[in-house]
Amino acid sequence: MPGPTLLWFTNNLRLDDNPAIEAALDAEKLICLFVVEPSWSRPNRYSLRSLGSHRRLFLQQTLDDLDNSLRQLGQRLILRYDTPLESLTSVVQQAGVSRIVTSQHPGSYERQTLKAIASRFPHLEILELPCHTLFASEQLPFELEKLPESFSAFRRKVEKQPLLPRTAIEAPTQLPSLISKLESKVVELPSRETTQYFSGGEKGARAQLDYYFSSSLPASYKETRNGLDGWDYSSKFSAWLANGALSPRRLWQRIDQYEAEVVANESTYWLKFELLWREYFQWYAHRYASKLFNQRGPFDRSPLTTFYPERFKAWCEGSTPYPIVNAAMRQLNATGYMSNRARQLVASAFVHELGLDWRYGAAYFEQQLIDYDVASNWGNWQYLAGVGADPRGHRRFDLEKQASIYDADGSFTATWQGREHCHPLPNQDYYDWPVA
Ligand SMILES: Cc1cc2nc3c(=O)[nH]c(=O)nc-3n(C[C@H](O)[C@H](O)[C@H](O)COP(=O)(O)OP(=O)(O)OC[C@H]3O[C@@H](n4cnc5c(N)ncnc54)[C@H](O)[C@@H]3O)c2cc1C
Repeated sequence: MPGPTLLWFTNNLRLDDNPAIEAALDAEKLICLFVVEPSWSRPNRYSLRSLGSHRRLFLQQTLDDLDNSLRQLGQRLILRYDTPLESLTSVVQQAGVSRIVTSQHPGSYERQTLKAIASRFPHLEILELPCHTLFASEQLPFELEKLPESFSAFRRKVEKQPLLPRTAIEAPTQLPSLISKLESKVVELPSRETTQYFSGGEKGARAQLDYYFSSSLPASYKETRNGLDGWDYSSKFSAWLANGALSPRRLWQRIDQYEAEVVANESTYWLKFELLWREYFQWYAHRYASKLFNQRGPFDRSPLTTFYPERFKAWCEGSTPYPIVNAAMRQLNATGYMSNRARQLVASAFVHELGLDWRYGAAYFEQQLIDYDVASNWGNWQYLAGVGADPRGHRRFDLEKQASIYDADGSFTATWQGREHCHPLPNQDYYDWPVA
């Protein structure tokens, strides 16, 4: 008789539309596992943490919510506090696991873990299911190695078909039974002290779906999406999409439904267009693996960067000479969220005005963003630094002009005290060493 199935939750922290759960339903015994890595809270190679306080709280809420939902079906979420490799190894050995089912992850580290597990346990069956993307890899109209080098080319190919996401799967009504002897090490993610704008878990995601699609907001998204402050100017689904409390296919279907029942216009199309951006970066991360983190990007381009510690500090805390950048960084630090427009501006300032190594900016976003997603974050940073999927090369924004368009009345900059925190750049000659 085969051993139990291990369902390793990563970026699919939900019951709804979860192909990994669906694949595990035929198991006799099931172990639901999430791994909390000690390294998330320790300084990484950029002297930053990969899990900052905003996302930590959001994750804690998400895990609580998932555990509650699993308990209603007689299951529970086992938490382990170790590296994924050691956690999976010990659970496989302790419980005699015969199969691991998990989400197909775009992160190269997660994929290396699965490879290492496969070589430690050659008889183990490992299934990776597309839980984090709209499409399964076999649906794409090209081999992954031939992923178009620009988003526009990608979009044209997927829209030409037209390629439709598979129908979202309903949440299960029952699950295989659990293994009682396997104990969860109780892991309390430390520090809950943060202002919370997003409520973690499927419950929060469903509430935002209902709120957004019962309003007229989707019908004006294209006109409002460049806002800088407030809840309604954009859809705000990113945080739930990032840790998988919300499935991208479910969101796509809700847009379809809105188009069928309320209105289909340029704005509703633009929401899908943005989800295709997300999709592109997911496959970009799958395609280029660890090159996602390379300073010179996947195509070996030269970035325009050096490293100045004082400037980096000023950017992180929002005390640069640029009011709009300060405002956005202070908003990020206070809330864990920043609009797409502001992300582009602060990244442009980081690379072009401050002359910094873009990877440090990406690592700071990783620490601070409540919606951090490995593919979207590092892919967008590469793009803006001119070493990624942008056929135009560098994108330098005129900060004053952008502020006059997108913060015409200055209210965003005033709210977050961008002007009050303006400081000239310290003299950096001493630190001026070239990296590239
Ligand atoms: C430097 C930089 C770093 C970024 N890092 C992240 C990140 O770590 N995680 C993340 O989810 N998004 C990231 N983005 C993309 C984008 O800024 C956010 O997805 C968006 O602001 C989230 O708010 P929203 O859900 O209201 O977006 P909406 O404008 O309502 O868009 C709807 C959805 O489309 C997707 N989307 C929109 N724009 C992009 C984009 N440029 N790239 C990829 N997906 C997109 C998101 O899933 C978003 O939830 C980054 C952008 C930049 C410029």
